[in-house]
Amino acid sequence: MPSNPELSATTKRAEIVGAEVVSTGVVRVAVPTPLRKLFDYLPPEGLRADQVAIGSRVRVSFGRRHLVGIAVGHAADTDAGVSLKPIREVLDKRPALPPDLLELITWAAGYYHHPLGEALATALPVLLRRGAAEDARGEAIYALSASGWEAARTPPKRAPRQVALLTLLAGHPEGMARTALDAEDGDWNPTLRTLRDKGWLTLSHRSCLPPPVESVIQGPVPNIEQQAAIDAITSASGFTGFLLDGVTGSGKTEVYLRAIEFALAQRRQALVLVPEIGLTPQLVARFRARLAVPIAVLHSGLNDSERLCSWQQAASGEARVVIGTRSAAFTPLPEPGLFILDEEHDASFKQQDGFRYSARDVLLMRGRRSDVPVVLGSATPSLESLHNVERGRLQKLPLRARAGDASPPRVALLDMRAQPLNGGLSPRMWQSLERHLAEDGQVLLFLNRRGYAPVMSCHDCGWLPACSRCDANLVVHQREGRLRCHHCGHEQPIPRACPSCRSERLRPLGQGTERLEQELRKRFPEQTVLRIDRDSTRRKGALHDALDEAQSGRARILVGTQMLAKGHHFPNVTLVGIVDADGGLFGADFRAAERMAQQVVQVAGRAGRAERRGEVLIQTHSPDHPLLNTLIHADYATLAQSLMDERRAAELPPFSALALLRAEAHDLQIAQHFLRSARHEAERIGIAGVLILGPAPAAMARRAGKHRVQLLLQAPERAPLHRLIPGLLKRLDFLPSMRKVRWTLDVDPIEVV
Ligand code: ADP
Ligand code: ZN
Ligand code: ZN
Repeated sequence: MPSNPELSATTKRAEIVGAEVVSTGVVRVAVPTPLRKLFDYLPPEGLRADQVAIGSRVRVSFGRRHLVGIAVGHAADTDAGVSLKPIREVLDKRPALPPDLLELITWAAGYYHHPLGEALATALPVLLRRGAAEDARGEAIYALSASGWEAARTPPKRAPRQVALLTLLAGHPEGMARTALDAEDGDWNPTLRTLRDKGWLTLSHRSCLPPPVESVIQGPVPNIEQQAAIDAITSASGFTGFLLDGVTGSGKTEVYLRAIEFALAQRRQALVLVPEIGLTPQLVARFRARLAVPIAVLHSGLNDSERLCSWQQAASGEARVVIGTRSAAFTPLPEPGLFILDEEHDASFKQQDGFRYSARDVLLMRGRRSDVPVVLGSATPSLESLHNVERGRLQKLPLRARAGDASPPRVALLDMRAQPLNGGLSPRMWQSLERHLAEDGQVLLFLNRRGYAPVMSCHDCGWLPACSRCDANLVVHQREGRLRCHHCGHEQPIPRACPSCRSERLRPLGQGTERLEQELRKRFPEQTVLRIDRDSTRRKGALHDALDEAQSGRARILVGTQMLAKGHHFPNVTLVGIVDADGGLFGADFRAAERMAQQVVQVAGRAGRAERRGEVLIQTHSPDHPLLNTLIHADYATLAQSLMDERRAAELPPFSALALLRAEAHDLQIAQHFLRSARHEAERIGIAGVLILGPAPAAMARRAGKHRVQLLLQAPERAPLHRLIPGLLKRLDFLPSMRKVRWTLDVDPIEVV
């Protein structure tokens, strides 16, 4: 029930009309708090409640704090039975969230059982969330006017701030952005005002959208399958969900571009979502070269004002195409005509903390609600999407052949059993590397483990350095001389001697990308070796440079983690080596095999994308494993079918729905007790068809010093789960152990270990 957190004695304001007291109504506000309810406020002085537009940001008092919430409804009166506080300020002239978006987020908050206020806050750019004024004109740029330059030459006396600002701006004749100014010390607001009043400043606005290209590049003529896909998408009337299922290099991006051209010609906007790692300058450049319209980009590399600017350009309709990562699913678009989500199988589309939404599922729902076609694309579709094709919820658009002249690579397994390994590579892998390099090829080695070695051990006593806060070994980072925990960030210097037996014979065990890079440099001193992983690309722009280096073919040997596997074009790569395929075969998560297959196929797809036929070698200790054999003798689709059969038999998604209740506490007993009580409550509610599993320890039972336990809720369909969860969450609030644990609910979790 809505109520106001303030129990203070503010009296309800009313207008006196004649003898009657007429209420001005109340505004229902979603406030960013974990509390799962709305709060009523009076309208601000001089306004009726219904003059506060739904979707507007409002600043309200909440307890002792001031928060920015969203007006989500009006009511004649509160039923909270308390006196209400007025809204302090309405922050938007036009609602920050248009009705379609507000409804979409409201749906998503309900579906993921997340508090609406927090879900809305997650969807907004940080600056709007904090209450910044909306300014759709772009970033403010201050520069000196003619009289300002005069003043800079003969600075005013006894006005140090004015002099400082004049000097600062004189050093930037092209003008300074508001954010750049704010980065300099102090509050410039009063000084800016003074200088403007004196006529010493000019103020202009810079759009965050680079101007579109004057003449676009013509794309290749689509082949028959591409044309069929383009025709299907462009002739969809209203919502249709498509799965563009095309092998790597089959020209999916070409299909997107043609479909976008069509939407643009209908005066519509297009939204394209890609995985974080896939949103490279190369991708954006490709879109900009082909589409002569303003394109806004939204990704985590932007600063807050750039992000706000892109969002506003999309909201104003200025940007006709928006390319973004997960959270861009919530970008306001006044004229949406096409939604695309590339690499739809990618795990990065599911948010893993806070508001745990899936951008893929949100985008599908958005398409349905806005009656706009949605295209999901992948060379390795998720089993969920393949299942949706079977059920007729998605229409499949196959691209079976590689576009252009490229032919599919030859794939072979390399049996590593009893082989002498050197740097983790078998003799046959080394020979192939030599041959390809001698023939002027480019080679790519995939190893999804960064660092030098996954673990270190004492040769004399067997001591292994483990993280004191997690159930995990510390990873050796040789170059920096550090041991690091990849789960909590803990790090320490590599010890000189074993702390347990004082032996100095400490040895790194196993392979990481850093070690492989070192081995390759030793073996091929005349070649350029390039490593691409999270460590080597930390610096801003480093990934961009590395990808350029790899694409140009200057670097002949590429070593990397999954960062290398996603959607990049390396036209010169002739050999792809997968160093270790076994991890995925025996992973604990029920999606481990699916993920392994996707990774192998994606990495393999980097080989031979141009004229030269590629070769893929997969190292394994299980050369007879049926999964690997299906993968190399048949294809991903066949493998996906057999995985699908296993899931059906085991009643796992997509043949059931899951929700995971996780709890963390410093004390294991408390976490377990909380989930046992939760289980008890769930049983008392008793929804038929819901299976409750646990509480059980998480695969990593301790992380960052906290014990992690989980309770899995499973049902043949979604509906029973959604009937159970709201009641369960209400009861959790009353559990005494609730305050001592950190708990989260994950609907449709992508990892359940
Ligand atoms: P995907 O997105 O499926 O990996 P792309 O759209 O990036 O594939 O296409 C791969 C390569 O093939 C690109 O260099 C692209 O320009 C080229 N290509 C795509 N379609 C055609 C076509 N119909 N004819 C010739 N080349 C094509
Ligand atoms: Zn020892
Ligand atoms: Zn740790």
